[in-house]
Amino acid sequence: MDIRQAMTSLDYDRAPFLAIWEVTQACDLACKHCRASAQPLAHPSQLTTAEGLNLIDQIADLQVPLFVFTGGDPLKRPDIFQLIEHAAGKGVHAALTPSATPLLTRDAIFRMKDSGLARLAVSLDGSVPEIHDSIRGIPGTWERTVQAIHWANEAKLPIQVHTVVSRLNITDLDRLSVLLTEKQIVMWSFFFLVPVGRGQLADLLTGQEFEDVFAKMWDLTKRVPFAIKTTEAMHYRRYLIQQRMKEGRPTVGIHDDAGARPTGHHGWASHPGTGSEDKAVGWATKRVNDGRGFVFISHIGKVYPSGFLPIEGGDLHTDTLAHIYQESPIFVKLRDSDQLRGKCGACEFRNICGGSRARAYAVTGDIMAEEPCCIYQPRGYQPAAEEQRQTSPGCVAHDLIQLEAART
Ligand code: SF4
Ligand code: SF4
Repeated sequence: MDIRQAMTSLDYDRAPFLAIWEVTQACDLACKHCRASAQPLAHPSQLTTAEGLNLIDQIADLQVPLFVFTGGDPLKRPDIFQLIEHAAGKGVHAALTPSATPLLTRDAIFRMKDSGLARLAVSLDGSVPEIHDSIRGIPGTWERTVQAIHWANEAKLPIQVHTVVSRLNITDLDRLSVLLTEKQIVMWSFFFLVPVGRGQLADLLTGQEFEDVFAKMWDLTKRVPFAIKTTEAMHYRRYLIQQRMKEGRPTVGIHDDAGARPTGHHGWASHPGTGSEDKAVGWATKRVNDGRGFVFISHIGKVYPSGFLPIEGGDLHTDTLAHIYQESPIFVKLRDSDQLRGKCGACEFRNICGGSRARAYAVTGDIMAEEPCCIYQPRGYQPAAEEQRQTSPGCVAHDLIQLEAART
């Protein structure tokens, strides 16, 4: 089954659309927002080569359309090329997110391509070294990242760029878009900060700032040759549909996601078509969200609904990936839109959006709470007394509101 077929036929109660395996937590960078709180040395209990090969077999059996080797830095694992080869041999469409360190050489990129890797993804958080390197913690990472884009082009390995969008770089996004327009990339994925790991609540954008970035993305979608995707900003789908409605064009399945195509959760799905409209709105019809169409496997074999949502669904040492994804209570709950609370529970867009469950949890401690960074007011929505209490002084959501007030 090719990716296009899989996108239209996948049952998210049975299998995820995208699986991400954190092959190691070892990494030589020290990024300010690191979800994994990565460090130079691998954990002694990280999955072995044999366990990794077995995981890939399970991914193949489940027919997961997209699989990502992430980290830490996957290049810190000496067996990474063997793992890529195994995935390719099993027909698994695999991508990899290296860190921009001296391990990311021209040879390594060509070897990944020769091993059967389908796509590379590098992180670029600023248009100039001063911004990017200060976020990534090590001088020289901007230059190495830009060099890696050129090496990937040379190796004919499709490459996408990830940008963590936060208070640290929001004013630089226009300049970064100019830079990326000059590069040969297949996708630009906007990762909206979730305050977990080293990610700070103070660096999170306000709801209005999310909308401002959405507007930039929408504008870019119309004029750049590469795809534009989001991670942990499910409400971009609502934004896209609103733009389409404003332009008097038909919307696609706002309330009904059956048979529709998924949006690239965690910024991976790329659209096989070429039209700019398809690149944006056509994708905004089937809700891939934390635990729903998406699964994250940690370096030690724990299974989570997202790398940003630290509630464990199970352990590969004692259970299968399929069983954990299909049956564990946290995954089952997250797939049930009827359990959404607050604005998201009342929202007419909840079946194509649902808000970031990871951010809701990080900010409020409740996985089904409303998305804290969405300004949309569902029609006729009145917060219940209990929800109003969530904003009382002392809770994290209140802190966020105070931050918003201080910034405006
Ligand atoms: S490159 Fe990735 S894993 Fe390494 S410190 Fe940065 S965010 Fe963490
Ligand atoms: S209120 Fe929730 S479901 Fe509605 S658009 Fe905002 S984040 Fe999405």
